[in-house]
Amino acid sequence: MEKNGMDPPPAYMQQPPPLMPPSYSQAMAGSIPLNPYTPVEPFQNGPRIMTTVVPLGPEQTRMICPHCQTDIYTTRKVKPKPAAYLSCALIFMFGCFLGCCLIPFCMNSCRSVSHSCPNCGRHLGKYLGNE
Ligand SMILES: [Zn+2]
Repeated sequence: MEKNGMDPPPAYMQQPPPLMPPSYSQAMAGSIPLNPYTPVEPFQNGPRIMTTVVPLGPEQTRMICPHCQTDIYTTRKVKPKPAAYLSCALIFMFGCFLGCCLIPFCMNSCRSVSHSCPNCGRHLGKYLGNE
């Protein structure tokens, strides 16, 4: 069994290169707002999973975990911020010691919420409320 170069060369080797768009010097001569030629980046090593940056709020957030690429709802851990303790002390000094000083611990803006992934357990981000 010998092949004596009977295989034709691949078809794409014979095709002329695609027509190039007008050169940039021509295109830039007039101010053209839209560039008709947008270069397309080829995929490298298969499809890439794009993880969108989701702004983390005080509630559970649906996102794609950047660590394990799983569609998850974040697991929250709510902790009062140091500002909450400070507000507590201030309210206490103003005389509202009958439980009012606990108000900052009930406000979203005084709590920090840590989001983590329920699948891999990694930390995903933190919501710090409104400063
Ligand atoms: Zn994960």
